[in-house]
Amino acid sequence: MKYQLFLLLTLTLISCAHAQTATAQTPPALSSIRQQDIKTDIFDMAGDHFRGREAGTLDEMKIAVWLAEKARAIGLRPGGDDGTYFQFFSMVRNRISAASTISIGNHTFPLWTEALLPQTAPATVDAPILFIDRTDTNRTDIKGKVVALVASPEGLNLQVSLPPRRYMGLVARRYATGLLNKGAVAVIFIADPLAEAGWALNASYADHGTYANDGDPGSTLTERAPVLWLHESALPFVKTPSQNLKANISIEHFLYPSVNVIGIQDGTDPTLKKEYVVFSGHLDHDGVRNIPGPDSIFNGADDNASVNVALMAIARAFHKQPGRRSALFIWHGAEERGLLGSRWYAIHPTVPASSLVAVLNGDMIGRNSPDSAALLGSIPPHRNSSELVAMGLAANQEGPKFLLDTNYDKASHVEGWYFRSDHLPYARAGIPALFFTSLLHPDYHTPRDEPSRIDTEKITRIAQWMYRTGWKLAMSDKRPALDPNFKLER
Ligand SMILES: [Zn+2]
Repeated sequence: MKYQLFLLLTLTLISCAHAQTATAQTPPALSSIRQQDIKTDIFDMAGDHFRGREAGTLDEMKIAVWLAEKARAIGLRPGGDDGTYFQFFSMVRNRISAASTISIGNHTFPLWTEALLPQTAPATVDAPILFIDRTDTNRTDIKGKVVALVASPEGLNLQVSLPPRRYMGLVARRYATGLLNKGAVAVIFIADPLAEAGWALNASYADHGTYANDGDPGSTLTERAPVLWLHESALPFVKTPSQNLKANISIEHFLYPSVNVIGIQDGTDPTLKKEYVVFSGHLDHDGVRNIPGPDSIFNGADDNASVNVALMAIARAFHKQPGRRSALFIWHGAEERGLLGSRWYAIHPTVPASSLVAVLNGDMIGRNSPDSAALLGSIPPHRNSSELVAMGLAANQEGPKFLLDTNYDKASHVEGWYFRSDHLPYARAGIPALFFTSLLHPDYHTPRDEPSRIDTEKITRIAQWMYRTGWKLAMSDKRPALDPNFKLER
């Protein structure tokens, strides 16, 4: 009898222990993150109605209001300025003025259609053109000249999968810097077929100019020797002896508003609720652009509506069952223009900076194979909190069990992906930070990034993974420590 009672007690204890482990591993409101909600929301957010949500346009304002309404409907309280969901900030835009001129002899080259100038900087040039062969960049008569050469992929060590848009930049890096260092006052590249393939898309970004936060380096520009592109039809002009290139490039400089949208679910613990687990994504994308083809709207379904709708689903879960710490949801503005919203918030947080326990950022979580993903900030030099990484990896094992790519997190990776999303300003500010992503694909930053191409089941599983990680952060007694000596490679 006694033995039987002992056995019974032991078995009960074992099953309780199992139940407790299971409770620790499954956050209570996991089932609130539903694929059907995610599907509905992503088709709304990445539909043509919002015209690609470009930073500094009414379309970005429109999506910000839409998100604020979603946050209100979910039950989050406003976490922005003056009791609203919004934190507005000013963005400086510099753009090449339409009054700028480029000519050789009597021939004028209209900007963007006949001449492409990828850099936004003022310049005045009136100097003779020297046409050289690509292999002849070491000659001694370069100083004071405008050097012209035909672009070629030879000697560039190109990857097979290189998108056409990247080619012009690679050619310029390979040749222009050296020529300018030798005293060239400008460089003209004659476009080859590869450059022509990327011309329209490059022009559609270059004509928009550059953006910066007000007062940042980059918000005011100084003279720079132009590096410009002409079509093959310009070859006779650059080859004719004793012709001058005349370029007068002037810059328009103006302020635009952008906005972060912020909602908070308060925690349950009287002390820990003053600390915040941050869920982060960006609400903007690349808008409507002047490119050939049937579709000019960059809907950014993967980039980054996928994460915006995941954040909404995670917010529903935290609202249903709050954690001990509070959860702060931030949909950043102007990420595509240089991480401007997150850089602004990291300097001007609407709650004390020291109360931000960790940032779980997502960018592009709805593409590529269903069982793969990546967690950037997991390995040095990008890892700034081993304790946070351990939570993220454990959450993956307890939940979706994605096969995690680690190549993109390496300092040597050519894409530098770690440096291209909104966790970065927080990591630089000394806040533990992770970046969840399903990585790049050929439709990245094209009108083909459409909701119909998205794997909403995958978004659901990554949202659940982010939620599981956030739940650990919200419930643990101790917040994750920063690793000592965190130092990024750039
Ligand atoms: Zn993005």
